[in-house]
Amino acid sequence: MQSSLEKLRKFFRLEAENGYNDSAIIGGLAKMLDYWESDARNDGLKEETIQAVAGRLRDYSRLSPESRKVTLLGIWNRVKKEHPEVGDKETNQTKPQPASTPPEPPTQEVGSAPQPESPPQQKDAPKPKPAHRPAPARSESTPGAQSSQIPVALNASLTVLQGVGPRNAKTLEQLGLYTLEDMLYNFPRRYDDYSQLKPIKSLWYGEVVTVIGTVQSVTGRPIRGGKSHITEVVIGDGTGALRLSWFNQPWLTNRFKQGLAISVSGKIDQYLGRLVMNSPDWELVETENLHTNRIVPIYPLTAKITQKWLRTLMNQVINYWAPKLTDHLPESVRYAAKVPSLNTAILNIHFPETQDHLRLARERLAFDEIFFLQMGVLRQKRDWQSVTARIFDVPDEWLKSRTDALPFTLTSVQQKAVSDIVMDFGSGRPMNRLLQGDVGSGKTVVAAMAVEVIAHANAQSAVMAPTSILAEQHYRSLSQMLTNGEGGLSAEKIRLLIGDTPEAEKEEIRTGLADGSIKVVVGTHALIEGPVQFTDLQLAIVDEQHRFGVEQRSALREKGENLHLLVMTATPIPRSLALTVHGDLDISVMDEMPEGRQPIETHVLKPRERERAYTMIRAQVLDGRQAFIIYPLVEESEKIEARAAVKEHESLQAEVFRKLNVGLLHGRMKPAEKDEAMEKFRAKEYDILVATTVVEVGVDVPNATVMLIEGADRFGLAQLHQLRGRVGRGLEQSHCLLIPTNDDDTENERLLAMAESNDGFVLAERDLQQRGPGEFLGTRQSGYGSGLRMASITDLPLIEKARERAQALFGEDANLEKEEHKLLGEALDRFWGGSKGDVS
Ligand code: ADP
Ligand code: MG
Repeated sequence: MQSSLEKLRKFFRLEAENGYNDSAIIGGLAKMLDYWESDARNDGLKEETIQAVAGRLRDYSRLSPESRKVTLLGIWNRVKKEHPEVGDKETNQTKPQPASTPPEPPTQEVGSAPQPESPPQQKDAPKPKPAHRPAPARSESTPGAQSSQIPVALNASLTVLQGVGPRNAKTLEQLGLYTLEDMLYNFPRRYDDYSQLKPIKSLWYGEVVTVIGTVQSVTGRPIRGGKSHITEVVIGDGTGALRLSWFNQPWLTNRFKQGLAISVSGKIDQYLGRLVMNSPDWELVETENLHTNRIVPIYPLTAKITQKWLRTLMNQVINYWAPKLTDHLPESVRYAAKVPSLNTAILNIHFPETQDHLRLARERLAFDEIFFLQMGVLRQKRDWQSVTARIFDVPDEWLKSRTDALPFTLTSVQQKAVSDIVMDFGSGRPMNRLLQGDVGSGKTVVAAMAVEVIAHANAQSAVMAPTSILAEQHYRSLSQMLTNGEGGLSAEKIRLLIGDTPEAEKEEIRTGLADGSIKVVVGTHALIEGPVQFTDLQLAIVDEQHRFGVEQRSALREKGENLHLLVMTATPIPRSLALTVHGDLDISVMDEMPEGRQPIETHVLKPRERERAYTMIRAQVLDGRQAFIIYPLVEESEKIEARAAVKEHESLQAEVFRKLNVGLLHGRMKPAEKDEAMEKFRAKEYDILVATTVVEVGVDVPNATVMLIEGADRFGLAQLHQLRGRVGRGLEQSHCLLIPTNDDDTENERLLAMAESNDGFVLAERDLQQRGPGEFLGTRQSGYGSGLRMASITDLPLIEKARERAQALFGEDANLEKEEHKLLGEALDRFWGGSKGDVS
């Protein structure tokens, strides 16, 4: 059949399945005319047919569903008359069918699920033909058949497929594919778009591309005096040649043969003026795809199966099952969100005909994820709010006397945050609050006030921080604050518990927490690792919460019963994102800095201008100020990082700052040594602290006014902003000097962004645009990322849309008890795998 008719058939069928709601194509069915008319002419369709189709489809959106059905049937009959080759066999199933068609009895394919697993409903289904496992093909499908039996059949194991015996099934299991449903959701890793391949001659340096070519030469040889090995392959595509190299994979040399067609994906680099690709992903090309001129899905593979075999299998499954899926998203939601049906989305995520279809399919599947995420988060919030918590009343005068005792006046946003917390304490419901404020906005003192309230009522608090340096600092400042004045705690009621606390002392602390003699414990993840038990933990605080995983945060929460929880972060994220990601929490935003702060002046210097940085440091020290000098992670190794810092420290002290005191702090030092170094810096015994990123979070030495970051191009934007936040914490003008590894890196976008803005929010937005949310959100740690395969949490419009929909549905039927929400409820449970929406 001509491809234009094929398309017509496909969209008509989708439209029928969707109940003639004009959603088979986004923007309406009439949109297909944009390209269909010319396709049809290319196919040699009669002009009258084309005009008849176009004429009737044009006003399609204005028709009622009933008239739409009539229209499509009419068009199809007309097409059939003019082009009998579309034939009856096909029209049987392509003929638009009324959406109200009662579920047809399961066909033989449904019955082909393995006997023992066959659900009772299938009892009267025709018996499967035992010897012949049908390879479901689209031409056999029955579009009207949507019934609740189908999800059950989707549980069928893969051996129901033709060509999959027990052995292949085992292999597929290695890919996490056990059932037909797993197959539907086995999304391609990427696509080769053969309609848009880039010829080698038009590649640009820096581009990330997929290129196809044939192997022209292969060499493998040792380099660096035999310490490493390089495989070099040159491929050509008729327009030019491209050199590829792989390191230390000597076996590759034998994998490439001259004349072999391969596709390589990666970043185009430059070496001695020529374009190269280093360690690209590569794959053998199935030559027939080259000519199909379409978008070909590439699936994750495992040993023993080929792309082609898996793709053929996927094709069978998708074509047959995708149209039969019952959409778990209620019509009303899908309408309001304007996303395609699940059938269309699953079909097009695997075998899209155009990039546009692929985009829409992605959008639908991404919508589902965010929607599920949001539903889970709302459910979590409701559950948390449904229990009671101890009430802590905070008398106004007492609170005032405590704030008056602080060395400064709280900013209005700090006051607001404190009063939010006080309100939560008095609510009888557990507090679940996120305190969000940029680096240096003064979150610690707010947390300290909360701890003080709880300690005053003789209950216990735990404060968890991501590094021992930060835990130590919190411990000191809390001790100072809480032991101060009349009615203050005695010092032994506040303790520090970190990984390196001596075992005997740990034991003592555990005992004190269990018998209630210790009221406040500050620490690292050591707080949750050991068998620490509290008699009466009422408040848990997690500082720099994005540094912890979901499990760690909930482990702390589990140490008490319905306790009050405060999590703090400097991660500035857009509101709609915050509401989704942290939707289970109430949020207090501190968007105002303490008075008298001056914006930090940030400069990017070339490596050869380093001396200027040193001059500035000397001048500041002469003025009584102090400086940090940060050395970067050279490789993913703390050891090497430490060594670099040690070496630099030596030469800085011996050569550059001979008359000044230069301290050293790195991750490989013992906690006691770290503590001593921090203390000496705090006490101004050191003028300069040479450090690694161990000072990145939380460290607070307000007298430090210079932050010099070496190898600054190696840091992420969020990290740079955090590091810079170590200065500018007092009233003095502070400076941040960024020196990249090479002169050219002074144009590095992140460094320029740093020089331009001091505002964490602005930088976060930039970072989101440039690289996705990973670092600012700490997605890797926070767990919810694992549920998101399609959705990018940078897609704010989509997030907003999904959030609004979820909220509306939650308001209408929170427990998804209505009949039309049942399927959604099941899908939601699957998404969360039994856990609640505890994402923050
Ligand atoms: P962060 O929000 O980054 O955790 P901190 O709580 O460490 O910030 O506070 C940064 C610095 O600001 C600290 O030195 C703290 O003592 C100081 N500070 C906090 N609140 C105020 C205030 N209201 N006025 C002046 N200084 C403040
Ligand atoms: Mg802090």
